[in-house]
Amino acid sequence: METKSIIIIGGGIVGSTAAYYLSKSPDHQVTLIDDGTGQATKAAAGIICPWFTLKRNKDWYRLTSQGAAFYEPFMKDLSKDGLESLPYKQTGTFIFKKKDEHLERAVQLADERRVDCPRIGEVTIHTPEEVTEVIPPFRSDYGAVFATGGGRLNGAQLVEDLRQLFIQNGGTYLQGSAELIDEHTVLYQGDTYLAETIVLAVGAWLPQLLSPLGYEVDVRPQKGQLLEFQTDFETDSWPVCMPPGEIDLLPFENGRLVIGASHENDMGYDISVDQEIISGLKEKASSFIATLADQDVTKVRVGTRAYTSDYAPFYGTVPNHEHLWVASGLGSSGLTNGPFIAWQIAQHILGQDPDYDIAPYSPSKYIQKHSKA
Ligand SMILES: Cc1cc2nc3c(=O)[nH]c(=O)nc-3n(C[C@H](O)[C@H](O)[C@H](O)COP(=O)(O)OP(=O)(O)OC[C@H]3O[C@@H](n4cnc5c(N)ncnc54)[C@H](O)[C@@H]3O)c2cc1C
Repeated sequence: METKSIIIIGGGIVGSTAAYYLSKSPDHQVTLIDDGTGQATKAAAGIICPWFTLKRNKDWYRLTSQGAAFYEPFMKDLSKDGLESLPYKQTGTFIFKKKDEHLERAVQLADERRVDCPRIGEVTIHTPEEVTEVIPPFRSDYGAVFATGGGRLNGAQLVEDLRQLFIQNGGTYLQGSAELIDEHTVLYQGDTYLAETIVLAVGAWLPQLLSPLGYEVDVRPQKGQLLEFQTDFETDSWPVCMPPGEIDLLPFENGRLVIGASHENDMGYDISVDQEIISGLKEKASSFIATLADQDVTKVRVGTRAYTSDYAPFYGTVPNHEHLWVASGLGSSGLTNGPFIAWQIAQHILGQDPDYDIAPYSPSKYIQKHSKA
């Protein structure tokens, strides 16, 4: 059979996952081009726990809860391909609430939602003292529900792992910025590359990629900053903590603690570190783990989220371009639903049926011809 070529622009969670699944097909030659500047995936916190959201968008919830459930087969696929240390861990998650009746409501919500998504696991109510038994330095006045199905992802490790597996499968990885010339042509470092199918997985940068083709895209950037501490705590068995308010605490291996994240609108694609925001995040984290106040911040990460005007993600083909796939607008939940979206795109390109209705996520609502074009 003739080999078909695919170019993917953008190597965040969507582009890298799509590249990985597509590179498993012997009939396709896949090239992944990634600039990497401002990438949301490698900056992201890593919370995978969508089931307690109060968002009303049912299509978003269906996609994102299935996205969380997709981590099980996804990690099995990576293990089968030889990955020993997986970037995702089911740690369980504490979700704190200011009032007792809100804790009871969260348990009820979980009971209702478990019918469609058993992955949520068991959900139980815990007093502040019981939380401290699990996470000794953590202090809070609030009780929490604990969901055993919650987990956390190291986004930077995932994209690196996927890149390695993709290259092992014969994929070509190119670092740098690319431009789209037309549905089948990409310009990279002065050379043109032709492909049967092109996937634009460029997150917040989709307007720039599609503008030369005469399209306006309803996607805007949002800046996000977070910080890391290297602590002496035994964080390996700690669950993720989601207190009320802006910050979340994510324990990773060997004492690494991630505190995230800011949500800054009107900053464009700026990725400079704002010390005032970092100090604010540190102060809030110290109100839960007091010793963090005297601890140096080990690392700061800054990334750019992509939002549509109705906060919903979209993916599919560009109107009137059946070989040009896009995914964007994943907002603050793209680590959760990104791999599932990417896997579906790969299945469609490979001519397989992923058995999921993508009509509610059609790009046509968000991508329109310039009025002048
Ligand atoms: C601080 C922060 C915290 C977050 N926390 C969470 C969380 O806890 N849980 C969760 O589910 N989600 C979280 N998110 C959201 C999640 O990270 C994003 O929704 C998701 O990573 C988007 O993935 P993507 O592949 O669409 O885009 P990105 O990861 O942004 O990748 C797009 C890539 O395309 C590249 N690119 C752009 N233009 C070009 C070009 N012309 N040529 C080549 N390459 C190009 C970029 O450089 C980038 O590498 C967080 C985001 C941020 C910023």
